[in-house]
Amino acid sequence: MKSSSNLKSLLKNIDRKGYPAYKSTQGTYDFGTYFLSIDHVQGDPFASPSKLSIHVKGRSAGFPASFYDTKYKQVALCDHLTRLFYQTLSKISFRAKGSGKSGLFSVSKCGQQVLERTACTINPSNGDISVHFEAGFPANGRTVNARELDKMLFGLLPDCVSSSLFYKNIDQKMLESVIYISEDQHTIRKNLSSMGLVAFIADGSVLPRESGISQKPLRNCVKFQSPDTFDLPHHGTITGMGIPKGITLIVGGGYHGKSTLLKALELGVYDHVKGDGREFVITDPTAMKIRAEDGRSITNTDISMFINNLPNGKNTVFFDTEDASGSTSQAANVVEAMETDSSLFLIDEDTSATNFMIRDELMQRVVLRDQEPITPFIERIRELYERYDISSIIVAGSCGSYFHPADHIIQMDQYVPKDITTAAKDAAKDFPMVSLPKKKHPDPCFDRCFKAGNHLKKERKIKMKTLGKDAFSINKDTVDLRYVEQITDTEQTTALGYALLYAKLHLMDGKKDLRTVADELMQIIETKGLSTILDS
Ligand code: ADP
Ligand code: MG
Repeated sequence: MKSSSNLKSLLKNIDRKGYPAYKSTQGTYDFGTYFLSIDHVQGDPFASPSKLSIHVKGRSAGFPASFYDTKYKQVALCDHLTRLFYQTLSKISFRAKGSGKSGLFSVSKCGQQVLERTACTINPSNGDISVHFEAGFPANGRTVNARELDKMLFGLLPDCVSSSLFYKNIDQKMLESVIYISEDQHTIRKNLSSMGLVAFIADGSVLPRESGISQKPLRNCVKFQSPDTFDLPHHGTITGMGIPKGITLIVGGGYHGKSTLLKALELGVYDHVKGDGREFVITDPTAMKIRAEDGRSITNTDISMFINNLPNGKNTVFFDTEDASGSTSQAANVVEAMETDSSLFLIDEDTSATNFMIRDELMQRVVLRDQEPITPFIERIRELYERYDISSIIVAGSCGSYFHPADHIIQMDQYVPKDITTAAKDAAKDFPMVSLPKKKHPDPCFDRCFKAGNHLKKERKIKMKTLGKDAFSINKDTVDLRYVEQITDTEQTTALGYALLYAKLHLMDGKKDLRTVADELMQIIETKGLSTILDS
């Protein structure tokens, strides 16, 4: 371990040399109350910025142990610290000058969801805190400007660290409320299933967002109202709407807030920050949005419970295509969600393939069952619940067929939910029910195995790129995630890219099925930390 004065004199020595001289700064330096690590130095002033980290001993950071004694509190605490660090760091970015990215400081920008990140971590056994961030090492042209780096690391950064990473210096009441909310959220999530629920939406929740491109809450909206209750450790009793297990239909006129409710449920798998309006919109953590995804590729997926006897004779037990249709893509999305052991499907008519969702009586009479390759979702929905314990929440504005299989029917009326189950069921009696398939279908087959990424091991360099939330690429292969709507942050996309790469290099072997590989991967992340998958 070197002292910070070592770094100071090193900087003096390399000033005005060629840019690569910065490489010699790599290492860890003692700054008294914290350690600064220069982990990776950029190749030139225009390349991706250098990677640095701050390490504060638990003794000096001083956060109460009760704020990080469970995983979810660690996530909430670190999320909050990342936000504080981001705020102070943005204020000092580009205060030092020069060419290219000279003077830049950056760290993860957190959105409305509270997510585990590698940016900030706490060691639960001693409270040590680490924060990873980036800095653009200053240059004039391509010459080292070490005086400016001295200003960044000795002049600007210390105040920023001290005001955001030490308990004694931050707003303690605010942090306390963050931890308390996370405990309340955890209480709801933990008890959902034993209360027979798949989701809960507290009264007063603000579901709509400001706009299609902003995740901030819409102001002056109609707040959510409903009659169920929950007892929380900090908030006390909270009222709202519990959505029971089974099949729930959300109906209502156009523009009455159906899709907005479903969207909130989709993101209810995450905790939301204080002030978001969806703090107490909590969904079963395994919930999956199921939608049509024309053009997606499908590899060895057993979609035979929905698609059979295709006119081209294609096998639907190990179904492969580079370019799926609406219905086959939605079938694959259902089966893959089953493969992940999801126990709640979220479906919006707006983003579904009609021929996948329903086939009405008249059509059944004209086009006979054995002439139609598709067994629509409506004929499997009860089976999914009764045989596989998978609940569904379906938004339907135009099609009444789902009234029959539904257990609960909620009408959104001017943004307020109403339970109309009895009335709707009564009305449905006069209409014919869809006939169900006669034969019992075998369980879907999940033994698809993927080969190890030996071709990647041979490459000299593996290049990983993230394209916003929409996609990542590993060398020349791109994985399109545009329609995986529950991804909310570009860093999740990046993490998925690294997770896939890690699995390809270390876990897949052509013999283990995909579920085993995914379980092993999650096990590694849980025991060794998320950053393990970064160094493949
Ligand atoms: P539907 O799916 O029923 O047609 P949407 O959920 O798309 O309706 O909502 C229609 C519009 O109403 C959207 O612009 C949405 O932002 C807005 N909206 C939704 N919920 C509320 C609310 N509680 N208060 C005010 N506006 C809302
Ligand atoms: Mg809609």
